[in-house]
Amino acid sequence: MKTAICPRCHQSIDAQAVACPYCRTSLKAFGHPGIPLHRAVGSEYLCDSCTYHADDTCNFPQRPYALECTLYQDINQSHSAEQKPYTGSTANIKSWIRRHQGLLMLLVILFISFLIALRF
Ligand code: SF4
Ligand SMILES: [Zn+2]
Repeated sequence: MKTAICPRCHQSIDAQAVACPYCRTSLKAFGHPGIPLHRAVGSEYLCDSCTYHADDTCNFPQRPYALECTLYQDINQSHSAEQKPYTGSTANIKSWIRRHQGLLMLLVILFISFLIALRF
């Protein structure tokens, strides 16, 4: 295990640690300069809102239950071209369906009730 020094309490800690085990200082991607480590907020897994989960391009072992991930890509913010290098058109359709599930369900229900109305 690679070690690092906590910037606050100066204890020797795991270089991959996201928080110092001694003083609980948050060490966001400590030892990985420039790579942001994304963390789940609340009880939701990161993968649930991740572009790479939606388009099925992620092969990380922690998927789909990642609470921390360096590759996480927020699906709601992946509108600009440089933010979604892997998304093809089918992935766009998939993510569109995911985002508009409620609306689609409503349309299906409306359509069904329309058919029922026609029969009587
Ligand atoms: S990149 Fe990370 S957050 Fe996204 S699906 Fe893979 S493991 Fe989950
Ligand atoms: Zn510390």
